[in-house]
Parts: sequence; structure tokens; C-alpha cells
Amino acid sequence: MAPGPAPDLLPAGLDFPDFPPGWVWLVGAGPGDPGLLTLHALHALRHADVIVYDALVDERILGLAPAATERLYAGKRGGRPSARQADISETLVSLARSGRRVLRLKGGDPFVFGRGAEECQYLHAHGIPFRVVSGITAGIGGLAAAGIPATVRETNAAITFITGHAANGDVPETLNWSALAHASPVLVFYMGLKHLPVIVDRLISAGRSAETPAAAVAEATTPRQRVVTATLGTLVEAITTAGLHPPAIVVVGDVVSLRDIIAAGAGHPGR
Ligand code: SAH
Repeated sequence: MAPGPAPDLLPAGLDFPDFPPGWVWLVGAGPGDPGLLTLHALHALRHADVIVYDALVDERILGLAPAATERLYAGKRGGRPSARQADISETLVSLARSGRRVLRLKGGDPFVFGRGAEECQYLHAHGIPFRVVSGITAGIGGLAAAGIPATVRETNAAITFITGHAANGDVPETLNWSALAHASPVLVFYMGLKHLPVIVDRLISAGRSAETPAAAVAEATTPRQRVVTATLGTLVEAITTAGLHPPAIVVVGDVVSLRDIIAAGAGHPGR
């Protein structure tokens, strides 16, 4: 039996689903701040036998699991050798088959540019039972931490999440830049820093005004969070001058101009 929930961490009187041996829980850890974890994520952290975690999972979050819980790194950053997706999926299957409670912990939300669906397909194909727990995605939580609202009634009736990085490492070729430039009032790029000059160029060439407010939020919701605001035309230079590094969310759209008021009023975000 797993230890019961720690009374100081999980509220009494709520029913949490069972985490049976042999199951995989695919859980989003949110953008970094442990306060943005879901209660289900915390429950899973405290009951798992083994945690298979990604590079973007904050160490303070891993620290919420009991010290005896095994932790396996499956990330792709930090100079450590990168784990292949097929190997990660196979690891999940074999850990589950060995009768462990496997917590697959991913940054943000597992289904937002996180390959969660691929892992579910693999688990399903191998007869492994699993549960998915959503997390706060960086494109929402990261913006909020910088004082940038995802939608504002007068400004945008839509928001678009885009990856700046295709499976082959290039800017995704399937994107319709003209449609994005004209029809999407707010564009939120994940993994957008590397190819930002190309992205900016395509948007402006497709007709988006270079004066559109734009921002980048790096390491959002962590103590290392940094925010750069500029315009679409000046963002690349502003990021270079500031020395911003991934992981970062890039946002293009008029919502960015509310940051001055919201960040100041909220009294906390945005260095
Ligand atoms: N599943 C994740 C996204 C994984 S893709 C989610 O839902 O948030 C990795 C990209 O997410 C990074 O390159 C960056 O663009 C973004 N990202 C994740 N965490 C971030 C953070 N704390 N601050 C800024 N960007 C972040």
C-alpha cells in the first residue's frame, strides 16, 4: 500500500482516484511554480513508486515526492544525453509491467506540444492502463505570470498556440503564415526562440504590422523568470540584448500592451 496523503499537503474530505500498481499516470506539472500544480498531480507525486520526468519539471516539484521514490530523468536538455521518445515509452511500459505505480511527469500540460498523445497510444497498444492529468500550460500560465492576459474582450476573440520547432528541428512547414498573420489576433509560440528571426520575418512578410506589441517570457513562474517586451519588429534584438534563453514563450498581439498595468497592479510578476 502506498502511504496515505500527507495531511499538510492534500486537503481532507476530497476523493482522490486510486493509483494502482501497474498503472501509468501521465501528469502535467505546470510551468514551474509548485503552487500551480493540480491536487491530482500532488496526489500522484506522493503515491508513485517511480517518477519519469522531463527537463522542464521544476526540482521543487520533484521534491514533493517522498525521498524513497525513484526518479528517472527522461529529458532532452542540460547537457545530459537525450532520451529517445521510443525509449521513454518503452521504459514506461516495462516499469508498469513490473508492477510499479509510474508517474510520467511533464512540464506544463502533457497534451500541449508535449508528446502526451504519443505516449498514450503506446501504452494503449501495449495494454497498460493509464490516466491523464492536465496541467497549466506555459502559454497560459507563463503569460499570466508576466502580467499578460491570454484574452481580453476588446482585443482578441481568439488565441493561437504554435510550435516554433517541428519534429525535424525546422520551423513547421505546414503553418499558413498568411492566415496566422491576418486572422489570429494573439499568437503564442512555444519553442520559438531558436527560429524567432524566421518567424518574425514570415509574419511581417505576410502582412502583420511590425508595430504589433510582442513579448518573450523566459523560465516563467520560476524565481529566474525574465520578461522582455518590444514590438514584433524589435523583439529579436531586444531578446538578444537582454540575453534571454530558452525555455521561453513568445507572444505577439495587443494583449501584451496590458502588461504595464497588470504586472504593476498584481505587484509581483515580471522582472
Ligand atoms: N507541455 C508544455 C510545453 C512543452 S514544449 C506546456 O504545456 O507548457 C517546451 C516549450 O514550452 C519551451 O520551449 C517553452 O517555449 C515552453 N515552456 C515550458 N515551460 C516554460 C516556462 N516555465 N517558461 C517559459 N516557457 C516555457
